[in-house]
Amino acid sequence: MKETINQENEKWVCDKCKKKLVSEKVKVKYLDGNFEVELLRCPECKIVFIDEELALGKMLEVEKGLEDK
Ligand SMILES: [Zn+2]
Repeated sequence: MKETINQENEKWVCDKCKKKLVSEKVKVKYLDGNFEVELLRCPECKIVFIDEELALGKMLEVEKGLEDK
């Protein structure tokens, strides 16, 4: 991933298509559960861009939630 990092997610564009990424809810499988996360996706080639910090944060939250049980 070589996309320019901007303050606002809305300004992210796909490297290949130069299209503005759209925020979309995607179902993610993690451990034994399914989770819905909002990810940035290119409307042209459908590639999904995962903000590493966001993804990590979500996963940590999920792990914490499971430990609390
Ligand atoms: Zn694209």
